[in-house]
Amino acid sequence: MRPVIMQVFRHSEQTLKRALISKNPALVSQYEKLDAREQQLMKEAFQPTSDLYGPIILQSQSDWIISHPEAPQDFEQFFSNPYRKIPSPEKHSIYLLAIGSLGNTRVISEEYTKWLKGYCEAFFYGMNVKLLEPISVSATRCSFRVNDHTRNLQIHAGHILKFLKKKKPEDAFCVVGVTMIDLYPRDSWNFVFGQASLTDGVGIFSFARYGSDFYSSHYKGTVKKLHKKSSNDYAIFDNYFIPEITSVLLLRSCKTLSHEIGHIFGLRHCQWLTCLMQGSNHLEEADRRPLNLCPICLRKLQCAIGFNIAERYKALVRWIDDADTPRATPKPSCEDNVHLPKPVEAFQDWKE
Ligand SMILES: [Zn+2]
Ligand SMILES: [Zn+2]
Repeated sequence: MRPVIMQVFRHSEQTLKRALISKNPALVSQYEKLDAREQQLMKEAFQPTSDLYGPIILQSQSDWIISHPEAPQDFEQFFSNPYRKIPSPEKHSIYLLAIGSLGNTRVISEEYTKWLKGYCEAFFYGMNVKLLEPISVSATRCSFRVNDHTRNLQIHAGHILKFLKKKKPEDAFCVVGVTMIDLYPRDSWNFVFGQASLTDGVGIFSFARYGSDFYSSHYKGTVKKLHKKSSNDYAIFDNYFIPEITSVLLLRSCKTLSHEIGHIFGLRHCQWLTCLMQGSNHLEEADRRPLNLCPICLRKLQCAIGFNIAERYKALVRWIDDADTPRATPKPSCEDNVHLPKPVEAFQDWKE
């Protein structure tokens, strides 16, 4: 097949309007109850010249929409899905659990987990976000292996999900494990970025491949093949390589977490506009995805949680501004200036 270069996936104004507002009178009147500023933002979805949202641009044959055809989900389909998990007053907490260390020191690991927590608090504004006490890989009793090709350590995603299900507190809407160890879903698979069970409300996501040198020849996480007797010895995880927490890694992990928790709320892959909920098949495509939800996905999340849209954006901006204050990482990388302030500008345009 010929590679596709810059194919624009554009919907008509009519289609987008219908996907966002729907024709169902109850949902139309629900939409009309949004305040004027919220509606003004939502309407940006159909402005062909919008600075905030644009059509999805496909850049390669291996992009998600081409390689994984799936039915699009408009707001009404989301709203009326009987299997959708809805947070209740009793189950209103998103729990994060670090599996293995996330940084090279305990302090970095703790700081990083707090940044993720803060980001989720702003993104899922109105939900409680709580941290479970971090645990070691050995405490999960999951299987692990050395990948035959990349020679890095990997843990079994399905075993971790079973473990998380048992750990789930009473008030949990979901429990999400995060780790710097790479994951595999089954023996025959090479790797997976993450895996979730929507019905159980559990997910596990690895940021191992988000470090700057995972795909380089000098990647330091390679180990020798495991011998039979060592395949039960978790000591191999002690002092195992952990990538440096750069701002790129932080950005990628925030995107992944919010995208994946979005799935737990019942949001399917977005095929309407450039959006955080677009599917991604590879890291380059995930990087192209914005931090932001398109209005259609934003309305879905708002309907699930019930936040005020402006308040939520303010919380996100606050989190981004806070990210510029001195932190535990010894040398803030120059990439900070490139990656973190970017979304702030987009939000400020909108506020005006
Ligand atoms: Zn996804
Ligand atoms: Zn979307």
